[in-house]
Amino acid sequence: MSEIWPRRPRLVAGNWKMHRTSAEGAALSGEIAALVRGQKACAVALCPPFPAIEAVGRSLRDSGIHLGAQNMHPEPQGAFTGEVSGSMLRGAGCRFVILGHSERRHGMGETDDVVARKLRAALRDGLTAIVCVGETLSEREGGQTAEVLVRQVRTVYDGLPPGTARQTVIAYEPVWAIGTGRVATPEQASEAHRVIRATLDRVVGAGTGAEVALLYGGSVNPGNAPALFAEDEVDGALVGGASLEAASFWRIVAAAS
Ligand code: PEP
Repeated sequence: MSEIWPRRPRLVAGNWKMHRTSAEGAALSGEIAALVRGQKACAVALCPPFPAIEAVGRSLRDSGIHLGAQNMHPEPQGAFTGEVSGSMLRGAGCRFVILGHSERRHGMGETDDVVARKLRAALRDGLTAIVCVGETLSEREGGQTAEVLVRQVRTVYDGLPPGTARQTVIAYEPVWAIGTGRVATPEQASEAHRVIRATLDRVVGAGTGAEVALLYGGSVNPGNAPALFAEDEVDGALVGGASLEAASFWRIVAAAS
């Protein structure tokens, strides 16, 4: 990647999921750009659905807000109907790509191994990956949260050089908190982030954990964001529902700034 990615940047990224046409997305991103303009303390990214990427990219031009995608295929090209590659996303102006979102892991059978392949492909194609990890409710209730996070981070990051791992972002997204209105407490988020950082230290190399930006995701809204961002462990947020409304997304960005 040509741009220098600072050590552990603050980042708020909006995941629009399967919401907004290209015209609607251009309008929403224009509203967000007008609110966010001039704010430099925190990096901001919007991840619209594929068909809206180019229109949203046009409306974000010169705004300082980054463009991202919600998924990609690990192969650079080929007979993969319905898929898109990292180089296509780069060509459409994307800087970021979300990988391993729980709606893909649990709804579409995406495994840790697949996410690992996608991460390497994203790095090859010059994209900054936002790698999602997180436990289900039954895993949390069964006391397996740390075990799940260690397995997910180890499988995806094993073998990556420290300098490469530092160019990625991890989003801790407990599955029970996504789209449910049930947010993790700041203490739960911090505890999970500490497990992830310690795993990066073991798997990638000492000191790596302290240098990778870790976002919290799961029912973040303007009301709960300030307490989450007050935690030293939390470097920003991956925001679903609250990113579909300009004012609420802007209030979350402001809380992180
Ligand atoms: C997400 O989609 O990554 C997410 C965290 O969604 P929500 O904020 O709606 O829970």
